[in-house]
Amino acid sequence: MIVNMSEKATEEQIQHVVERVREAGYQPHLTRGTERTIIAAVGSGRRHEIEALQVAPGVDNVVAIAQPFKLVSRQVRPERSVVRIDGVAIGGPEVVVIAGPCSVESHEQLLDTAHAVKRAGATMLRGGAYKPRTSPYDFQGLGLEALKILQQARQETGLPIVTEVMSTEDVDLICEYADMLQVGARNMQNFALLRRLATIQKPILLKRGPSATVKEWLLAAEYLLSGGNHDVVLCERGIKTFETEMRNTMDLAAIALARDLSHLPVIADPSHGTGKQSLIAAVSRAAVAIGADGLIIEVHPCPERALSDGPQSLDFAGFARVMEGLSEPLRRTAKISLATAQAI
Ligand code: PEP
Ligand code: MN
Repeated sequence: MIVNMSEKATEEQIQHVVERVREAGYQPHLTRGTERTIIAAVGSGRRHEIEALQVAPGVDNVVAIAQPFKLVSRQVRPERSVVRIDGVAIGGPEVVVIAGPCSVESHEQLLDTAHAVKRAGATMLRGGAYKPRTSPYDFQGLGLEALKILQQARQETGLPIVTEVMSTEDVDLICEYADMLQVGARNMQNFALLRRLATIQKPILLKRGPSATVKEWLLAAEYLLSGGNHDVVLCERGIKTFETEMRNTMDLAAIALARDLSHLPVIADPSHGTGKQSLIAAVSRAAVAIGADGLIIEVHPCPERALSDGPQSLDFAGFARVMEGLSEPLRRTAKISLATAQAI
């Protein structure tokens, strides 16, 4: 349930409603907008007591939250959220580009890539230290050694780092090195991991599971927000369909839908979304045009030698061309037309 306070509601009236929501057995969550305050009653309690708040002083109206995800929904927070990662803002007017190799393979490979993607205009660095691989015989990542290399790249380039966490056991260690933690597609519904990540002070990049509906994806995000971590960025990375020519099918409409249903920023991963180097530029432009707040793109000094995801990785020149294709007008027009569409 949502209690919409009137524009003129006093602080005392707001606090009274918060208290009544708690008494009714719900958790109160306040969103202070530029014009009004919204109080969401989350959890399970005595619904009729919330409905009765209709007549409490300072209350405009009481409505049900239409979706099963609550704190993630735009009903609870109509304004868009901006997630800040050490000077980089995801969800603001700029389209943020995160780039780097699928896996950290060596000091030289990562440092060269970090400098190259920075020169081309990327504002964050990616690189896997703990890799979720389909086969146990494939390269599994360098672990702690990779985290140390990532930290050096950060020191040299100033680019904040995002890297994947696969297990609750690794959370503390990864938090010492990374600026943002990625929950990979295969772990989107690892509820123990989500619950643990809800308690940390670092932003989370939550990838959509290859077989997850948009609702399931947003409910996974709800685990993070309801547990206390509101710094969540969603990432569409392609889903499984009957198509076999591409590794996954990039669900572009899901980017627009997720932004419609939720206030959280949404970025696109055209690398995993297509599995093909040749499609990254076109799909990146399409994702930005449909409203993506950013992109995450795999880049390798020599894709044919990559220990993971070579076929979808761009070399430095290829990445620079993708960045040129994401010209300023495209980025600006997409954001402006979206803002207009949302205002209508
Ligand atoms: C990755 O980012 O390298 C990765 C494994 O992504 P996903 O979880 O989307 O497959
Ligand atoms: Mn990868």
